[in-house]
Amino acid sequence: MVAERLDSLAPAAAFRSAAEDFPYVAKTRVETLQFNIGRLCNQACRHCHVDSSPARSGAGDNASGELVDGVLELLRREPGLETLDLTGGAPELNPHFRRLVAGARALGREVYVRHNLTVQFEPGQEDLPRWFAAQGVVLFCYLPCYLEENVDAQRGGGVFEKSLEGLRRLNAAGFGGGGPLELQLVYNPLGPNLPPPQAALEPDYRRRLGEDHGVAFDRLLTITNQPIHRFRQALVRSGELESYLLLLKQSFNKATLDRLMCRRAVSLRWDGRLYDCDFNLVQDLPLKGPGGAAMTLEDLLEAPAGLRLFDELAVTVDQHCFACTAGAGSSCGGSLAAEDLAVVEAPRNRLSCSPNFEV
Ligand code: SF4
Ligand code: SF4
Repeated sequence: MVAERLDSLAPAAAFRSAAEDFPYVAKTRVETLQFNIGRLCNQACRHCHVDSSPARSGAGDNASGELVDGVLELLRREPGLETLDLTGGAPELNPHFRRLVAGARALGREVYVRHNLTVQFEPGQEDLPRWFAAQGVVLFCYLPCYLEENVDAQRGGGVFEKSLEGLRRLNAAGFGGGGPLELQLVYNPLGPNLPPPQAALEPDYRRRLGEDHGVAFDRLLTITNQPIHRFRQALVRSGELESYLLLLKQSFNKATLDRLMCRRAVSLRWDGRLYDCDFNLVQDLPLKGPGGAAMTLEDLLEAPAGLRLFDELAVTVDQHCFACTAGAGSSCGGSLAAEDLAVVEAPRNRLSCSPNFEV
């Protein structure tokens, strides 16, 4: 049934991916290097697709200084990589994080930091808001609800209050006030639902966080939970995995395909391997070069400058990719398609944080 619907949306020749029925997707021009610098995190959220936690402190889970040197070298020789998008874990906990950010900014790159807010309260991180401001990074801060019980249920006891205090400190440093220091908030559903429309949820967030907590931000981005790792395990425990996978497939929206983040980005893992995105990275589905072999940062540094080897390269897709194409679509930058283009039968949450998800 789903395959039939997809067949009606694209030429039959386009269905030649590894996944059972996900459309063929190829890269266009790669402009973003996303770097997952390591799995170490001060939190252990139950939806974490990277399985991060404070226990992930070993060398096997975190990038070395040599790899960070290699990233800076790549940025130096590839001006087409306009953006460095840093994620983790909590990327700030890697000892080479600040050197990397400062180096990339000195090379004129836009730097995004996926910031969990509570890391500001870890030893030695108290100056992060002012340091971020001095570097001029763009912050993506995760807050899955404006209600304390829902945030703490997903991200751990006390996380909501700490996150609000972290946001106030970022506001005091100049972030989130509509000026050049951008602060984007990121929402994801607590349960096996699609996110509500981004544009409709944002005013709700702005009012509740502003009036109740004195916190400001620039934009709210909504993302869909990927059915992998901890969230998948929770779905298995609650008996909702199959219905969630079906929801994602039935909500397929062709209008999202042009803007999938894997088409314009590559993801580098802490061990030097390359992937099409952070989700493939944790699934260990490697980016395959023109010859079909899995690629590493070393391959990029040895290839002729210009990154032409990604042109039209097929993206490795699998079942979880339907989370990126459901409804209005989902990426690290929020929804992908105009929300009035979303498939009409895609179920919607009410316009608030979704109900708690019991696991
Ligand atoms: S803060 Fe982010 S990286 Fe850390 S455990 Fe939570 S979801 Fe995972
Ligand atoms: S999970 Fe999303 S971003 Fe990653 S390869 Fe699949 S469609 Fe692309």
